[in-house]
Amino acid sequence: MLRTVLDHGPIARSTIARRTGLSPAAVTGHTAELTELGLLRELPEVGGAIGRPHVPVDLDTAHHVIGGIHLAVHFATVALLDVRGRVLVQRVIPHPSLDPVTVLLGAADALLELGRPHGIGVATGGWVDERTGSIIDHPLLGWRDVPARDLLTGHTGLAVAVDSHSRALVHAERLLGQTRARASVVQLFAGNVVDAAFATGDTVHHGPRSAAGAVAHLPVDDSTEPCDCGRTGCLQATVSEQTVARKAGLPFTELLDLAKKGDANSIALFHERARLLGQAAALLLDVLNPEILIVVDQSVHHVPGCLSALREEVDVRSWICDDAEKVVVPSSFSGRELATAGGAVLLNALYQDPLSTSLRRTS
Ligand SMILES: [Zn+2]
Repeated sequence: MLRTVLDHGPIARSTIARRTGLSPAAVTGHTAELTELGLLRELPEVGGAIGRPHVPVDLDTAHHVIGGIHLAVHFATVALLDVRGRVLVQRVIPHPSLDPVTVLLGAADALLELGRPHGIGVATGGWVDERTGSIIDHPLLGWRDVPARDLLTGHTGLAVAVDSHSRALVHAERLLGQTRARASVVQLFAGNVVDAAFATGDTVHHGPRSAAGAVAHLPVDDSTEPCDCGRTGCLQATVSEQTVARKAGLPFTELLDLAKKGDANSIALFHERARLLGQAAALLLDVLNPEILIVVDQSVHHVPGCLSALREEVDVRSWICDDAEKVVVPSSFSGRELATAGGAVLLNALYQDPLSTSLRRTS
């Protein structure tokens, strides 16, 4: 019901009943509960003169803000979002060390300086177990079995949900972004960590121990890049931002800036990388046949020609995708994906079961 209001609000209760299949009495009951929780509000009555008056309802964005923490390899992004998933404020904090407790509690303190959220979502790369709220393995941070949820709940007293950044952004797309993603979606995330996520119907796939989506060591053609796993030519080792920066002899952000300004050598490096990502995208498309494949990558967003290069590679390599322009699309959250990812973990929990996320009205 909350998702129906998110999609269509302001909306009349009779329309909610029609769209959700709930009885008018159930809609009235849920509306009262969700209003009490500060998630819905009633708007002024409309109509009246002709027919029955009705009181439309909409999301109440005035009561709750959602906290988000995204942990990258070198920095944390902390953000507050409203219940529509809009980023209200964000801040980037370089990691003071790689000690997990220092990083997590420092990020939480920075978040609480922005405001008091009603729960915190945490997203990061690597292997994350959403069920236990722990980061099982994040090789680039050197973290193993970090109980992130318990640490943060203990420190803040707030409800905390933890998931991988790829799955977080799939939740965000399905709730707030591209509606085609609600049928089925694969997402390929390329930063320093390279991983994937898959959802079909209402289910984002986790698999046993939440290990789904680990494409870091997928072999790619035309690469001899050594990987920490002992082999050569693994996807993540080949296309990670660190590798591209090392090859160019520049920090990644400088390289990206040069490409944005039209520097031919930098653009060529990104096009080569986009084609390598296209190899992985084609394979994922063939295995999972999703409605859309979403690419989360800074160069796809910023560098002219990257998305086309990636799509061309998909057209060449995929056996089943004959229209990569339609199927392969950039993230809806380009430029704010990190700020969105953390909050999306909690928003997903909220929209799945608003009564259990322990939100209390605080007016
Ligand atoms: Zn490897």
